[in-house]
Order: sequence, then C-alpha cells, then structure tokens
Amino acid sequence: MSKKQAVWLLLLSLAAASSTSCDRIESRIIARQAAKALNGDRNDLVDDQKLHVVLCGTGSPLADPQRASACTAVLAGGHFFLVDAGPGALREVALLRLPRARLDGVLLTHFHSDHIGDLGEAVMQSWVAGRKAPLPIYGGPGVERVVNGFREAYALDTGYRIAHHGAEAMPSAGGLAEAKTVMLPAPDGSAVVFDADGLKVTAFAVDHLPVEPAYGYRFEFRGRSVVISGDTKKSDNLIRQARDVDLLVHEALAARMIEPVTDYALHNGLSRWAKLTSDIVKYHTTPVEAAEVAKSAHVRVLALTHIVPPLPNFVARRMFMRGVAQTWDGKIELGKDGMHFTLPPNDTSVAVDSLS
Ligand SMILES: [Zn+2]
Ligand SMILES: [Zn+2]
Repeated sequence: MSKKQAVWLLLLSLAAASSTSCDRIESRIIARQAAKALNGDRNDLVDDQKLHVVLCGTGSPLADPQRASACTAVLAGGHFFLVDAGPGALREVALLRLPRARLDGVLLTHFHSDHIGDLGEAVMQSWVAGRKAPLPIYGGPGVERVVNGFREAYALDTGYRIAHHGAEAMPSAGGLAEAKTVMLPAPDGSAVVFDADGLKVTAFAVDHLPVEPAYGYRFEFRGRSVVISGDTKKSDNLIRQARDVDLLVHEALAARMIEPVTDYALHNGLSRWAKLTSDIVKYHTTPVEAAEVAKSAHVRVLALTHIVPPLPNFVARRMFMRGVAQTWDGKIELGKDGMHFTLPPNDTSVAVDSLS
C-alpha cells in the first residue's frame, strides 16, 4: 500500500468513526482546497523582474480537447497582458493560476472569433478576481465595435453582480472594458502600445489578408524580447520586427495535413468544405515556413502555436513537425497549453517548463 493510500484509509476509518469527526475532516480538506484556490495565484510571475511568457491557448477554430483557442500571456515588471482571448482560453488562464486580478489589458491581433471569443470572460473573470479599473482592450481599427458588442452582451450580468454583491465588492468601473485603437504610422511601421516600468509593447502589421487589420506584438523588458505573430502568412515585416528576439511565438498550420482533407471533400461531393479548407491554407504559415522566419530573423527560440490541425498523438505530431528541424537548427518548441518560458534580465537563457 502506498503512503497516499494509507493516509486515505486512515481518513476514511476516522470518518466512519462518527459523523462529527467526518464533518470535521471534510471541513479541513475543503479549507485546504479553498486556501489553494484563494491564495494560489502565480503573482511571482508578475513581480520577479523576469520576462515570462505562458501559452494559454495553442489551438485554432478546429475543436481540440488538448488546446484552447488563441491566447498567450506575457508577464513582466509588475504587468500582465494577454495577447488574444480565444474560446476556452480564460478557463486555461484560471487553471494555470495566472493572477487575473492583475490583468493590465488584452492585446487583440485581429478579430477572428478564435481570437476574441473569451474577451467577455477576460473582463468578467478579472473583475470577479479583484480588478478595479476598466480593462484596456488594444487592437487595430474596429476594436471599439468588438468591445462595445461584448460590453452590451455582458451588461445584464454586470448589473446582476453589482446588485448582488454590492459596489464595494464589485466596483462598477472594474466591470467595464475600454477600447484602445492602435494606429500604425505606415504599413511596415510600428506603434508603441504600452511603455511603463521597463516593459515596452509595440504593435506591427502582419499579412492575414483579407483580414485587416492584423497585428503582431513585440515585448521588450530589461534586455529580453519576445514577438507574438498573431495569424499571418509568412511575413517579411514580421521578420524585420522579430529581428534578434529571444523568443518568437509563431502560428503554424500544416498545409500538407489539410490538403488531403480538401482532396477527400472534392472527390466526395463536399465542394463547400473543399472551398473552405483550400482557402484557410492561403493565409497561414506552415511549420517549415515558421522555421524559415525564425532563421531569417535570427531568433533564439521558436515556439509554434495556433496549431492546425489538432494533433491527437505522437504520429500526428511527427507529421506536423516534418522538415522543421532540417530547415533551422535552433531551439524549436511545439507549443502546448501551459508551456512557460522564463527569460531572466540581461541574459541569454530561455528556460522552458510547464505550469499545468
Ligand atoms: Zn486564428
Ligand atoms: Zn485569423
């Protein structure tokens, strides 16, 4: 019998002794879980003066039991940002115990549903967790429509919570989101989105046509840097903006795993599906192309995200990564939800572990 089993057996026999002792044991177990739930946020990631990147959603619109839709967290210098908030991402943020009360803003790369579906949850959950001021939502022109739409959709719920818990526990300003429209000075230019406490965030254009605007974001903190691609074809502007960064988080769609789906649809009278699947490969980057981008930009580490198609097993992962290592001999990570990168200040190391 293992030590753990012995402890449970002891607890159960104690519980059987009397209902009073059973109640006491139950309460103690629940109190321990509550302490973990209420005090267990990873505030250290915000405060330790390192640059942290956490992949909170590495999936796509295709349902994947292992991956939420697009979301990457960046935490540094007392600040916490999410890049995109796709469906399922806020559940992942909560499970990873990222400190939602300290969320400083959401940076939207573009307005496809797999990047904005959980925006209302980002506002609601961070407010319930304790955020007090309106949450800035950054994005290209159009972000105000998205933010106003979510605000209206959540307006009744926001009112219920203030009425139920009182304005002291749920200050009304915290229930709001604030659209921050980011304009680029030129198609190949960049715009500073945030600059405080040593953390600088800039936006730049990527190529996801016909979706426009479509942005990537670059974060710099104490001599370290990360670029998050958003959705894009292989982009020369992204290569320029990601030059020499420590970490490039880049989208990847294995076109050669989608093309047989198109063939099947074409030959089985499913022409609508053939049209959709042949269209999607045109505005994304293959894993091999992402490796070419990493090589051209001289980045230190490449992490693949926005994984299409879902990869249920080892064989699928092998197929997805075929040709990548032959293209670039740098460090490449096939992103997973919970994957965590730590970049200490003024250093060259990029440590990888999992918060899951
Ligand atoms: Zn997408
Ligand atoms: Zn997209």
